[in-house]
Amino acid sequence: MTASSMEELVSLCKRRGFIFQSNDIYGGIKGLYDYGPMGVELKNNLKQAWWKSMVYERDDIEGLDASILSAPVVLQQSGHEDTFSDPLIDCKICKARFRADQLESSECPKGGSLINCKSKDLTEPRAFNLMFKTAIGPVDDGSSFAYLRPETCQQIFTNFKNITDSTSRVVPFGIAQIGKAFRNEITPRNFIFRVREFEQMELEFFVKPGSDEDWHKYWVDKRIEWWETQGISKKNLYPMEVEESELSHYSKATVDIMYEFPHGKEELEGIANRTDFDLGSHTKNQTDYNISSDVKKNEHSTTKLGVQNLEEKTSYIPYVIEPSAGVDRGLLAILNEAYTIETLNDDNTRTVLKLKPHLSPIKAAVIPLKKNNEQIVSKAKAIKNELQNLGMGRVILENSGNIGKNYRRHDEIGTPICITVDFETLDDESVTVRDRDSMSQKRVASKDLNQFYQKYFH
Ligand code: ATP
Repeated sequence: MTASSMEELVSLCKRRGFIFQSNDIYGGIKGLYDYGPMGVELKNNLKQAWWKSMVYERDDIEGLDASILSAPVVLQQSGHEDTFSDPLIDCKICKARFRADQLESSECPKGGSLINCKSKDLTEPRAFNLMFKTAIGPVDDGSSFAYLRPETCQQIFTNFKNITDSTSRVVPFGIAQIGKAFRNEITPRNFIFRVREFEQMELEFFVKPGSDEDWHKYWVDKRIEWWETQGISKKNLYPMEVEESELSHYSKATVDIMYEFPHGKEELEGIANRTDFDLGSHTKNQTDYNISSDVKKNEHSTTKLGVQNLEEKTSYIPYVIEPSAGVDRGLLAILNEAYTIETLNDDNTRTVLKLKPHLSPIKAAVIPLKKNNEQIVSKAKAIKNELQNLGMGRVILENSGNIGKNYRRHDEIGTPICITVDFETLDDESVTVRDRDSMSQKRVASKDLNQFYQKYFH
């Protein structure tokens, strides 16, 4: 099941501590969100799942965590200073600004749709660069500044030689990175779908020219499979070949994985064949190589980024296949897929987040049935500590509210199991375990609990 509207998700996220409007108590800033106690766990779990599948479970990918502040020359060479822009249109009457490619769906700030606004006077489209700038050093006179990176990958390219030298990697291999990216989106909207500060999970996979098309196809299939293992049903994922006229300046071919979000079908992840554009743009001595893409002349780089073709005894610039996924869009899709309303008896309903257990913010809630019984509470604490030490993620001691309220809360945040410690536990060393999805309850001996619990995550 999925949510019937974005409002349902926004409301659950606020009520249960997943996602809040940033700077909320001062009225908020558009396009910025904060992840609360449940959101930070869910986000970390999703990033961990991606990292595991990319770096730990394969033998051809290394990790990186590079700086956010980027030297302007990097983004000049990459083409971002010239081309990372949206076409904007201003209304001369009300002074509002709109994206030229989204006029149809834009609202006039005075109310109603822009298209139907009778008192509008629009300018011609102008390019507006989406990168944020900040001063570096003590003097803010514009002479020394950095960009907040608009995508995480540029520092992967600038670190290419550091990584090959320090790990002895040879093509084909990849470099993975998860981190923040910033874009001054003109019309941030649809909750965490289009925001100004977000996280990306990016892999740059370096391949020999000629093998790029096969690798591109390989990564499209792999990435769709991965989203399915995160709980997104295949029927809501649509690989879409981007039309040639819509391709980014660096791309030979791009497949966007589209997802049916509550507000419509939009991009969840893009998988681009970036050719030799990136390493070709950042390399020293460009003319030493047979670079196929249209790169800007580089007079600043200190390092050659070509690799050896041992058979032919030549050197070449590797091609790059880039699967680039948004963490925030991923979370929105996962929350949407997991959101379920079930009708119980007497027309009662329950809201339950049917998250995959590895993503659940809380892995198990241990509930002492009598909050003021010392023996029960200390037994519950001991169980909590033991399960916590198994390292599957956060386990919580739930010692407030009644059991019904506890179950309702843990259904809504997607906790796979609730474990209740009661008077019987003191006599027979067993606990009641309630399963989130079936709501069935069964007695489990304390000695079997660790194994029972761990099975949920395999
Ligand atoms: P869009 O066309 O929706 O603006 P894009 O094609 O510019 O996206 P990419 O540059 O390919 O996006 O970035 C890779 C991924 O980063 C996207 O698939 C998306 O998941 C995420 N992403 C990009 N921009 C944003 C944003 N403003 N807010 C949240 N996530 C974003």
